[in-house]
Amino acid sequence: MTQPSDKALVPFVSVDNMMRLIHHAGIEQMLRDLADYVEEDFKRWELFDKTPRVASHSDVGVIELMPTSDGEAYGFKYVNGHPKNTSEGLQTVTAFGLLADVYTGYPVLLTEMTMLTALRTAATSAMAAKYLAPKGATTMAMIGNGAQSEFQTLAMKAIIGLKSVRLYDKDAAATRKCARNLQGLGIEVVSCKTPEEAIEGAQILTTCTADKQYATILTDNMVGSGVHINAIGGDCPGKTELAAGILSRSDVFVEYPPQTRIEGEIQQMPEDFAVTELWEVISGKKPGRTGDRQITLFDSVGFAIEDFSALRYIRDRIKGTDYFIDLDMLADPDDPRDLFGMLQRAKA
Ligand code: NAD
Repeated sequence: MTQPSDKALVPFVSVDNMMRLIHHAGIEQMLRDLADYVEEDFKRWELFDKTPRVASHSDVGVIELMPTSDGEAYGFKYVNGHPKNTSEGLQTVTAFGLLADVYTGYPVLLTEMTMLTALRTAATSAMAAKYLAPKGATTMAMIGNGAQSEFQTLAMKAIIGLKSVRLYDKDAAATRKCARNLQGLGIEVVSCKTPEEAIEGAQILTTCTADKQYATILTDNMVGSGVHINAIGGDCPGKTELAAGILSRSDVFVEYPPQTRIEGEIQQMPEDFAVTELWEVISGKKPGRTGDRQITLFDSVGFAIEDFSALRYIRDRIKGTDYFIDLDMLADPDDPRDLFGMLQRAKA
């Protein structure tokens, strides 16, 4: 069968190609570039279509669709969250995403997003820390040493100059894995036996655990004044990581309040609990950190605009490279109304 040369093909970035691209770009450079794309989109936050993600919950996990558009491009991510998966040899979080042209509605990119989600989440955390963490923060406690943990650590190193990370996980094997992976990457790694030990001397406390319950990874008395909390793991109804008392003592920064009130740490608080939207800080409309004793808390759940930024980055980055293959996923007959004729000709 002959294929018309102007066939509408869609660039597809596989996991293998994504990994090649990350190595080619250098992971820290890619985290910085992604943070720039996310920051750019947070600065034009108001023009995006926004909706809390569409979630389908089961007893063991959640499957979500995360759509948004800036009027020129439309993007969505498919992502799951299944904390029990690791015990079955599967990832907790996997994802893929698509970017389309709003003018034609045609997809312009399909990509794996499991790696890309880890990168964009870490880049967003570090971008938030740039505005919220104590100036000159050098040490981070990393509680939860699973799939996201090395990315979180490296983004803080690349973007705010983190020098030391103190690891803790309830599963010592996860801590050993994380420490091993971070070896030789230019950051001091201290493995700890308790969460209390991990937070000693840390100016940034990152919680990135996976458990479908109201967990208390940090209790109120563990959090002293002046720290920045980067709370990543509480991102689903019924799934939190922080004692409510910490929220009352903190200035809480969120991505998109209607989604975070359902999914974030603040689901524990009254509906009118005061929060600041991170985009307002980034656009200079509201202050971030204002004092040395202030506790800042980024209640991260992951919002569609961050995925849109990551998709936009990949679309731009793969142009002229071989980090993708073309997919024949659009039936695009020469005569647009002759879809049936195209089918008949294919039989010949
Ligand atoms: P993972 O399953 O690979 O790792 C989670 C780790 O948490 C495991 O090593 C587990 O042993 C540890 N853990 C569980 N309970 C703990 C406890 N009480 N104390 C200490 N450690 C504990 O998961 P992951 O891919 O690293 O993701 C972590 C969490 O982050 C998930 O809940 C995921 O949904 C969330 N996440 C959020 C975003 C976002 O944008 N906010 C993005 C990606 C993932």
